[in-house]
Amino acid sequence: MSEVRKFKLTCIICPLGCNIEVIMEGDRIVRVTGCTCPRGEEYAVQEVMAPKRVVMSVVKVKGGMFPTVSVKTDKPVPKELIPEIMKELASVEVEAPVHIGQVIIENILGTGANIVATRPA
Ligand code: SF4
Repeated sequence: MSEVRKFKLTCIICPLGCNIEVIMEGDRIVRVTGCTCPRGEEYAVQEVMAPKRVVMSVVKVKGGMFPTVSVKTDKPVPKELIPEIMKELASVEVEAPVHIGQVIIENILGTGANIVATRPA
């Protein structure tokens, strides 16, 4: 018989913050309770099976007003890739001027997400 595991999550999709419980048997989800809408269920399933996050960091700037510029991924990326993404960002240096929304790295590590500047530099 497969091991039964319970996950308790707070949905972060909207300000209601519903408390969701996901029950798994082995690697199969058997029940999701506590969601008030389908978006919450989708979030909970993804969070348990393959969690993703938006990554925020900085990269070095050459010849700008500041030595670094803040950046983020333009969509969530798999959580397990975050350390590798941070390493990649630490090795990057962009030339000023940098504009808000400028793509600094396209399709970082094949995730389909771009690294974009969140302020000018
Ligand atoms: S389950 Fe739906 S209503 Fe509840 S916090 Fe998530 S998105 Fe909002």
